[in-house]
Amino acid sequence: MMAQYHGLKAEAPDCLLFYRMGDFFELFFEDAHIAAATLDIALTSRGDGAPMCGVPVHAADAYLARLIKAGHRVAVAEQVETPEQAKKARGSKALVARKIIRLVTAGTLTEESLLDSRSANWLVALAEQGARVGLAAADISTGRFELASVPTASLDAELARLGPSEVVIAEGAQGPVDAAIASRGSFQSGEGERLLKSRFGVATLDGFGSFDKAALAAAGGLLAYLDRTSQGGSLFLQPPTPRTAEDHMAIDAATRESLELTRTQSGERKGSLLDAVDRTVTGAGARLLAADISAPLNEADAIEARLNLVSRFAEDGTCRDRLRGRLRALPDIGRALGRLVAGRGSPRDLGQLRDGLSGARDLHELLDALEGPPALLTRLMPQLRGHGALVDKLSRALVQTPPIDASDGGFIAEGFDAALDELRGLAGDGRRAIAALEARFREQTGISGLKIRHNGVLGYHIEVGAKVADPLMKPDSGFTHRQTLAGVVRFNAPELHELAMKVAQAGNHALAAEQAHLEDLIDLALEARDPIAATADALARLDVASALAARAIEGGWCRPEVVPHACFEIEGGRHPVVEAAVAASGERFVANDCGLSEDSRLWLVTGPNMGGKSTFLRQNALIAVLAQAGSFVPAASATLGLVDRLFSRVGASDNLARGRSTFMVEMIETAAILSQASERSFVILDEVGRGTSTYDGLAIAWAVLEAIHETNRCRCLFATHYHELTRLAGRLDALSLHHVRAKEYKGDLVLLHEMAGGAADKSYGLAVARLAGLPKPVLGRAKDVLARLEKGREKTGGIAAGLDDLPLFAAATEREAEATDPLREALTAIDADALSPRDALEALYRLKQLL
Ligand code: ADP
Repeated sequence: MMAQYHGLKAEAPDCLLFYRMGDFFELFFEDAHIAAATLDIALTSRGDGAPMCGVPVHAADAYLARLIKAGHRVAVAEQVETPEQAKKARGSKALVARKIIRLVTAGTLTEESLLDSRSANWLVALAEQGARVGLAAADISTGRFELASVPTASLDAELARLGPSEVVIAEGAQGPVDAAIASRGSFQSGEGERLLKSRFGVATLDGFGSFDKAALAAAGGLLAYLDRTSQGGSLFLQPPTPRTAEDHMAIDAATRESLELTRTQSGERKGSLLDAVDRTVTGAGARLLAADISAPLNEADAIEARLNLVSRFAEDGTCRDRLRGRLRALPDIGRALGRLVAGRGSPRDLGQLRDGLSGARDLHELLDALEGPPALLTRLMPQLRGHGALVDKLSRALVQTPPIDASDGGFIAEGFDAALDELRGLAGDGRRAIAALEARFREQTGISGLKIRHNGVLGYHIEVGAKVADPLMKPDSGFTHRQTLAGVVRFNAPELHELAMKVAQAGNHALAAEQAHLEDLIDLALEARDPIAATADALARLDVASALAARAIEGGWCRPEVVPHACFEIEGGRHPVVEAAVAASGERFVANDCGLSEDSRLWLVTGPNMGGKSTFLRQNALIAVLAQAGSFVPAASATLGLVDRLFSRVGASDNLARGRSTFMVEMIETAAILSQASERSFVILDEVGRGTSTYDGLAIAWAVLEAIHETNRCRCLFATHYHELTRLAGRLDALSLHHVRAKEYKGDLVLLHEMAGGAADKSYGLAVARLAGLPKPVLGRAKDVLARLEKGREKTGGIAAGLDDLPLFAAATEREAEATDPLREALTAIDADALSPRDALEALYRLKQLL
């Protein structure tokens, strides 16, 4: 047995091996140590001292979930024959054959109990090809499959968008991913195209779109990995959708994190934008909304199409409520389908398809009554129906609530199959006859406590109390002794045996008939897998649109208007997460306007700490995300030009709590903005430069502001406590000054959280410190120091002394000068190989003159 164990272990060396032994999965050696520690179960040892632990098969899912969550992979080795078969085939001492039937990894789960119903579960494979990375992403729980090729620099952003559970990279490759979610796979160039074609049974991939070498290589790696984890079994993959980084608003990993789009910085969903927006009523809707918010659209028509649908549901409350009421009751047919395709489907999954598909048909009727439906709805409508024959068949075939476990039968409805009904009748008759027999035996023996019982070992048997068992022990009693336990004795009798055989036989036949029906029904459903997946998608879209409408009504949100020019005009904007938090503490959130346009692109925001600067910056970035995701936005009115890239950076010290952000990171991120932001981008910079000394920080902030204004020319909100920066307003014409208002009232600072034009009149640092409870003596001392510093500043002109004479940021002009430099031109024109020594000397003189 150990030889067999080690053989299996060698097949999956990177996995914990679940070795099936009867009703348990056992783990041995190092695996046992890991599992016992992770699962908090008892570590025992075998006779030969090998450490082992085990989990019961019926509860294996829960243990698997915990191991996977803890970052492990598990290989499941099943018994592929019964002990009887083994004995028959290879003699009485033969070992039961075992095989790894599946590798369970975080990215290849389909079980309901192992997945979060409201999040997608992405498995991503990465293949590097020169300066590009191929990225294949599959969620086999719903069959979604995307293929992309992105420049290496955009990879982080794409990974952050998907938030994969597992990333497959080539053996030996330096993956850009966290080791905890990295798996190794094989990527053979050229294999990708072949594997894709054979998987989808096509002669050419043209029908799916065009894919470059990198994307194909990634697809090859993904398919090979899936093949390995499913051990050749089937799984659900829809044909690949081509994706490019330009399909959606580019949001890099740091920006996602800082804006807390789908998760907070501490990794939770609660407190994120998604959480504040999400009013979906189905798992599929929640997953789609998360995808929408992670990848806002980049194209006005597509955004309008989504907004039109949301508007429609926002206007028609009756329709919205009915739609949502019905959606809420629908099962998750996308995931049910995924399990069925993977061969892990149950009768309950078929029941879910039945209910989901017939529910979709009802929705079709409901929505069909709408007059002048928006275009997106018209497009979705056909996907809601067309499963009549399947629904009909499933409705007739299945009981109302089919079980998850098929092995006990009982899922095929009465009246569906006459032969099955008859077998069940026989079994039922037999059971009734057995009940009658019990009464007869009691009478015959005079033992009133006699019972006929059933268990897995003895089958049907007669049980009496030990004290009254003696007469039945006699050879001529008509009873055969089977077992004596403490207190009871068990017997058999020929009549009972005969009836039990009949019951068992009829039961077995009935079970076999049910299993055969199950297979047929699954086949039937799988034939329609693509249209079923389309129905699931349509339901999810309806859920998202109606949920966004509900959210908009709840919060008094408005429909954003997308216009061609690069403006950003918000009236009465709010931050959905902070607003909820402020409201929870019984206060009122102050709505604020924002108005960026082509000739007023840059707002410099000053004001006291805690005044609401960050909140203001972020709320505007979030409004851009929501608008382009096709949602209403938390504002009284919003008009914006499409944002191609969104950036959000927070000065280093704000991030120190996370223990990893340093000034260096802040600068790297700022560099990325300066090199990537275009005239259509939107940038928020919060206290950039504050992670270093005052002078350095001010100098950097100053230069960054100038560069953004002169070179990037993007829309930008820049919050700072460097009051000196406000001098730039006189020099940069698209920059304007704003501040969050505060006042001192009887020595106390009152933060109004209200934006106003112009620079803040003072910094209020001491007032904030007082608000925070700094001890009085310390405050007093700080006041003295401040007075001295200010006196010094008056004398010298302060830290900004001399800045006013500094020529304007010259990056662009320098480059232009370079291009037209006559010295450079003359030098370029010289062909050194063609010069005689005398010519060379002359050339040198000429060049000197140009200096
Ligand atoms: P700053 O960036 O200026 O230090 P924040 O934006 O972090 O300030 O805001 C500090 C706190 O003030 C927030 O956590 C919130 O409780 C409150 N706040 C911010 N903006 C508003 C607002 N518009 N209305 C009401 N309260 C606000």
